[in-house]
Amino acid sequence: MLLDNHGRQTTYLRLAVTDRCNLRCRYCMPEEGIEFAKRQELLTFEEIIFLCEVLSDLGVNKVRLTGGEPLSRKSLPQLVKSLGNIFPKMAMTTNGILLPPVLDELVGYGLNHYNLSLDTLREDRFFEITRRDDFAGTKRALDELLAKGIKTKINVVVLKGTNDDELGDFVALTQENKVDIRFIEAMPFNDDDGNHHLYLSHQEMLGRIQERFPNIERFSDEANSSSVAYRVPGFKGQVGIIPAFSRSLCGSCNRLRLTPKGTMLNCLYSTKGLELLPLLRSGIGREDLADLITEFVKGKHKTGHDTQRLEQQGSVFASMTSIGG
Ligand code: SF4
Repeated sequence: MLLDNHGRQTTYLRLAVTDRCNLRCRYCMPEEGIEFAKRQELLTFEEIIFLCEVLSDLGVNKVRLTGGEPLSRKSLPQLVKSLGNIFPKMAMTTNGILLPPVLDELVGYGLNHYNLSLDTLREDRFFEITRRDDFAGTKRALDELLAKGIKTKINVVVLKGTNDDELGDFVALTQENKVDIRFIEAMPFNDDDGNHHLYLSHQEMLGRIQERFPNIERFSDEANSSSVAYRVPGFKGQVGIIPAFSRSLCGSCNRLRLTPKGTMLNCLYSTKGLELLPLLRSGIGREDLADLITEFVKGKHKTGHDTQRLEQQGSVFASMTSIGG
């Protein structure tokens, strides 16, 4: 069992399978000059599976595939098939553009929860935020997920002055659709780009939503949820606000992260991790690996604020695309 020194059990792996993406969201990646990891620097599928088997033995029961854009990783369905034999619960965070041709196959392997990243419902604004003209691609994935009755959440990174006038439009989607909308506080990744002014707090978001839906009410959160749940009475779907920057939900955090290059991280704000790639390539055995990970998780800091203070030097964070959001 993976227990940290603050009494939390880690049961959930966020597995970033690639740092590449087919979009260039302004808050996440620069337009040019990105040095993506070379193939030999990435964990292979065999290495990921070995590691996941060890984590499963240690009580991890859920994996979420992230990136970058996870579907940018070649032959991803093969990996999903193997992971489906290890973890009872699988989910993916994706922009959806590459999803429709492989959706049925992935669902067949047990990957049946999707978080679709979609920051706007307006085509022109999609281009402004992502620097790519593929609103139709993400919309196609959303329509297909909903038509097939697959559990779907829409992740909206709320950017002050860019899409914060659409919160009500997103909430309106929950009236007739069984979809959860999750509004995410923008984080100052790449804050040398001046992203701090984009931050809108949980309470400010709630205020904006209440202007259009004054009867929105607090709803019970799922266990270990990273979001605070709300719903409009009578609507089919729910709304959640993820306090990614204010970090008010760390007390129930059950998450562990793995980067595409094999660095294990205890927190979204971690910069110091356990470098697993050289250990895996030098043939470490299951028991030794389990012991190392168990010790590493014990050292998880109590909150994301502590992690930031104790691990980070200065205020320039890693890019979201290299640690899986
Ligand atoms: S900030 Fe870190 S400790 Fe807090 S919920 Fe997020 S990942 Fe967990």
